[in-house]
Amino acid sequence: MPVRRDTPSIDLSAEPLSRLPGVGPRVAEKLAVRGLLTMQDLWLHLPLRYEDRTAITPIRLLQPGVPVQIEGRVEAVERGFRYRPVLRVAVGDESRGTLVLRFFHFRAAQVAQFAVGARIRCYGTPKPGQHGLEIVHPSYRVLGDGDDAALGEALDPVYPAVEGLGPASIRKLIGEALERLPDNDSLELLPATLLEGLGLPSLRNALLTMHRPPRDADVAALALGTHPAQRRLAIEELLAHHLSLRRQRLALQQHGAPVLKGKGALVKALVKALPFTLTGAQQRVFKQIREDIAKPSPMLRLVQGDVGSGKTVVAALAGMLAVEAGKQVALAAPTELLAEQHLANLRAWLEPLGVRVAWLAGKVTGKARATVLAQVASGEAQVVVGTHALMQEAVTFHDLGLAIVDEQHRFGVHQRLALRDKGAGRNRVPHQLVMTATPIPRTLAMAAYADLDVSAIDELPPGRTPVQTVALSAERRPELVERIRTACAEGRQAYWVCTLIDDSDEVVAQAAQTTFEALSASLPDARVALVHGRMKAADKQATMRRFKEGEVDLLVATTVIEVGVDVPNASLMIIENAERLGLAQLHQLRGRVGRGATASTCVLMYQPPLSMMAKHRLATMRQTNDGFVIAEKDLELRGPGELLGTRQTGLAAFRVADLARDAGLLPQVHALAERLLADDPAAADRVIHRWVGGAARYASA
Ligand code: ADP
Ligand code: MG
Repeated sequence: MPVRRDTPSIDLSAEPLSRLPGVGPRVAEKLAVRGLLTMQDLWLHLPLRYEDRTAITPIRLLQPGVPVQIEGRVEAVERGFRYRPVLRVAVGDESRGTLVLRFFHFRAAQVAQFAVGARIRCYGTPKPGQHGLEIVHPSYRVLGDGDDAALGEALDPVYPAVEGLGPASIRKLIGEALERLPDNDSLELLPATLLEGLGLPSLRNALLTMHRPPRDADVAALALGTHPAQRRLAIEELLAHHLSLRRQRLALQQHGAPVLKGKGALVKALVKALPFTLTGAQQRVFKQIREDIAKPSPMLRLVQGDVGSGKTVVAALAGMLAVEAGKQVALAAPTELLAEQHLANLRAWLEPLGVRVAWLAGKVTGKARATVLAQVASGEAQVVVGTHALMQEAVTFHDLGLAIVDEQHRFGVHQRLALRDKGAGRNRVPHQLVMTATPIPRTLAMAAYADLDVSAIDELPPGRTPVQTVALSAERRPELVERIRTACAEGRQAYWVCTLIDDSDEVVAQAAQTTFEALSASLPDARVALVHGRMKAADKQATMRRFKEGEVDLLVATTVIEVGVDVPNASLMIIENAERLGLAQLHQLRGRVGRGATASTCVLMYQPPLSMMAKHRLATMRQTNDGFVIAEKDLELRGPGELLGTRQTGLAAFRVADLARDAGLLPQVHALAERLLADDPAAADRVIHRWVGGAARYASA
């Protein structure tokens, strides 16, 4: 159908940016790298913050840390050299205040500009310096004497950078794009009554306010992200994500799934054979799964449970329902070590019941591999445990009914889908169970996983003593070494975790090696071993195994031990440079101890001075062992993007919304989603398209 360019209903939002003056192929390419392709992308390219140049602050009133615009005359200039060249310019104004502008990089022409008496207007954040307040590298301009430069009418937006384009060009382009912003009727997708009810502006007004906040705008609210304009955009963005997840969930439900319902003889036998009784939480979650998989539509359930909460046995019980129904079960874990542990558990639990368990990992090669592949393909293998190797193309199942992915945040969505598709056939997919030891706050789970059902194993098996956590400055390392000596002499085992800010495996491995040598020298009576990511998998496994079997007293390790290894006798953990790790990672690491009956200790060793954030993190770790509480705190401190990882959810791609801050909007978002899907599915599509774009996050749940 020919496009009619003259109709007012034409969707301007999709106009390519090459329509803008000054956007040739080269500029367009730079914009595209940043994901800016259409007019709409520029409308939604929102400022990171604002600079207020609408007023001039008398120098005498400046406060450290508060950004301001000042105007004054150069009183003195000093060029010096302390470690590196410095230019210091003293500026004074009628308030008889003086401020120093300090430059470390400057050109001769700049120096010439700062003649004594020259009039300067500059913007920046004053900080205490050697001689009163100073601003380092302010943005400034020299005003000619007759030159009475007007003050800004609106706050100046500061945009996220686009590589290869200066801030002025970006501002100009966005200005051009805003000129083309259509009237609200063709832009607005939310019902006017709703917006009025919430006291929120129209989309058009919200965008204009965000890009050009008027002089009297509530700057504090803008900085906090609670301005009505921001809330207006956030609500639509959250709605878009929610709708997109709902859509994917619906798409999944279009498929059928095997009905896994039986007498439960295997489940009963397993429960009876277990050396422990299930916790209430395990029973509740298993019941939920059991109900899900008894239905002819596919389950997609996330089981969250803190480290040690006993997720594996729940997965095994679910597996028994599948086996009893004549289907196969796959259980994938992100590391060989973890997969091996699952294998050992499942073999011990299931083989006595007559269930055949197979093993498939990267290191299973040659003839052994061919044999396993054949068993999987024929259905002889009823439960298949493995690593990423399970997801490879060569693996074909006879009849996969349940796909279980452990520590799912370590896998990409595509890997989960690859495993799922191994059981797909004639409009049917297997049930999926994904497990994570990274607890996710409820609000976040609701927004991030609208396409998943979420269960929580929020109770630890009885008999665990909580880990005592202490923070210790690195200066007290010698005391720690003594502590380890004592612990090892008493037959306890310990972890020493080396971390570095440098993520390169090689550097971290080197640091671990050095620590290993130092500790071996100071603890001649202890059996010390080392594992790090650069070792051959087989060597790593062998060392871990020796630790597990009690042949090693002290294990020096990098964060490779983070995931899932169970050594109940290890009751002391030292984490070096703990201030550099996030809460989630610290919590995961700490979960390696406290798995047995002895009281365990986790020492968070830090390098002073601590930043505010690091202080908060260490304090949180000392105060609680509860993964859900830690996750809430983590969300508060870091925001959801980092918490979940972009790979997992794409949540980091939120432009305006912030789940920690905007959680209060979610009930409205959910109600709005219902209404839009019922009344105006086309508008729902446009909302998704506007914010989430064509790249649906879970290609197809
Ligand atoms: P995670 O949730 O971290 O994967 P695991 O499944 O590895 O936890 O379980 C941790 C340990 O607790 C294992 O040794 C497991 O056998 C044991 N366990 C699981 N459930 C119970 C229970 N109800 N009572 C006692 N021990 C349990
Ligand atoms: Mg586990």
